[in-house]
Amino acid sequence: MVDAIVVGSGPNGLAAAIALARAGRSVRLVEGAETIGGGMRTEALTLPGFAHDTCSAIHPLALASPFFRSVSLAEHGVEWIHSPAPLAHPLDDGTAVVLERTVEATAAGLGGRDGEAWLKLFAPLAAAGDDLVEAILAAPFPPKHPLLMARFGTKAARSAVGLARARLTGDRARALFAGNAAHSMLPLDAAATASFGLVLALLGQTVGWPLPRGGSQTIADALASYLRSLGSEIETGRTVTSLDELHDARTVLLDVTPRQLLALAGDRLDGRYRRALQRYRYGPGVFKLDWALSGPIPWRAAECSRAATVHLGGTLDEIAASERAPWHGQTAPRPFVLVAQQSLFDDSRAPAGQHTVWAYCHVPNGSASDMTEAIEAQLERFAPGFRDLVLARSAMGPVEMEAHNPNYVGGDINGGAANLRQLFLRPAARISPYTTPLDGVYLCSSSTPPGGGVHGMCGWHAAQAALRRDGGRR
Ligand SMILES: Cc1cc2nc3c(=O)[nH]c(=O)nc-3n(C[C@H](O)[C@H](O)[C@H](O)COP(=O)(O)OP(=O)(O)OC[C@H]3O[C@@H](n4cnc5c(N)ncnc54)[C@H](O)[C@@H]3O)c2cc1C
Repeated sequence: MVDAIVVGSGPNGLAAAIALARAGRSVRLVEGAETIGGGMRTEALTLPGFAHDTCSAIHPLALASPFFRSVSLAEHGVEWIHSPAPLAHPLDDGTAVVLERTVEATAAGLGGRDGEAWLKLFAPLAAAGDDLVEAILAAPFPPKHPLLMARFGTKAARSAVGLARARLTGDRARALFAGNAAHSMLPLDAAATASFGLVLALLGQTVGWPLPRGGSQTIADALASYLRSLGSEIETGRTVTSLDELHDARTVLLDVTPRQLLALAGDRLDGRYRRALQRYRYGPGVFKLDWALSGPIPWRAAECSRAATVHLGGTLDEIAASERAPWHGQTAPRPFVLVAQQSLFDDSRAPAGQHTVWAYCHVPNGSASDMTEAIEAQLERFAPGFRDLVLARSAMGPVEMEAHNPNYVGGDINGGAANLRQLFLRPAARISPYTTPLDGVYLCSSSTPPGGGVHGMCGWHAAQAALRRDGGRR
């Protein structure tokens, strides 16, 4: 018998387990895969000696997260690496627009009216600092820093296209903003997509967009090491198929998405909550490529070699078209591609002189389309000669993604679409979205606020909800 069982060892499962263990509860973490980590895994996907991040690669949200800040990751082996610039965005004229480590430096790079507009948009957000980020990553009720959030909301509630056109003057600044907003995996003319562009670009210019030396698996291993040091057990290779299997714990936290919760609960869930889970919407899937290269990517714009992350997609209009396509069941002919070139800054990822590259684009949920050609064409467009360097490649579409991790339903890596409704009412309209109608059963995955990404805050909030209810009974 233990006080709590946590099912799933993604960042949110690990964060939930750590929060409970710190509060003195006995905890068992159960993971279906043979290794822990969920979306934080590093594997030899191509050739021996090449270490690839299967899922997460770049970690601004981890650096910003109050949960991660409360754990001494360095003591458990995590070393953050910052590339000189967080992000580069090449354009067809052979130049690149660059997100720098401060708002002032980004604005200076943009220059002229674009620079002034960028400064006016981001300087007040940077001045709000940690309070704003804390409020964004908070549980929805009661709202944290409501006045600050109301001010942020006047910009964040807009569509990315609307805000970019209204506040940024030139193509370069608009393209840079659109690439950040496209992490939403939503059509960029949808309400609140500006919030993604604002938050990610803000984090790049404040905390940075770092990568962990050795790969994202080191973050999972560090959290697991800390959890064990608190006296908790971790069991891998055990897929839970029903809540009935978890009768030896008073409290259960599930790092799973609504579809899996329905299956685990069987006929124990009914009524409004069951219907809300059935209606829950998953977003587009991803098609991902990892390459082993014989040399660094031969970017036409030299600035691209200063950044661990590179956004390929050209102008705001082009990126907007690409992000609209999956919502109409189509793949974009020139997809917006997110690229990470970790080995340029971390020599542990590949043999000397050789390199790893990680990239993906968004496709319709469950799509079986092979995007290899389209993604490589985007790389060739901004780095002619890229294909000549390819030693080996690994491809994973939505089907392989879901087989790798059952939380990626149809290849959706965010645990559900982050549209306006599901940004806050995730997965259902409840004061505490981490609770379920089942006594002692909580949801702690990215299908709860604040949603996708490696920040652990869904797990952290779910654990607080469990401790609040459990507090009176101990
Ligand atoms: C290609 C890709 C790129 C990404 N890039 C980034 C990035 O650069 N930065 C970033 O911050 N985020 C990134 N993400 C997103 C990030 O990885 C996820 O948002 C995050 O991992 C979600 O955490 P989670 O704990 O909710 O779930 P997950 O990390 O998905 O973990 C869920 C775990 O639960 C286990 N599980 C599920 N069901 C059961 C069951 N029934 N029994 C036992 N175990 C079960 C699964 O095996 C899995 O290990 C990326 C994801 C992908 C796929």
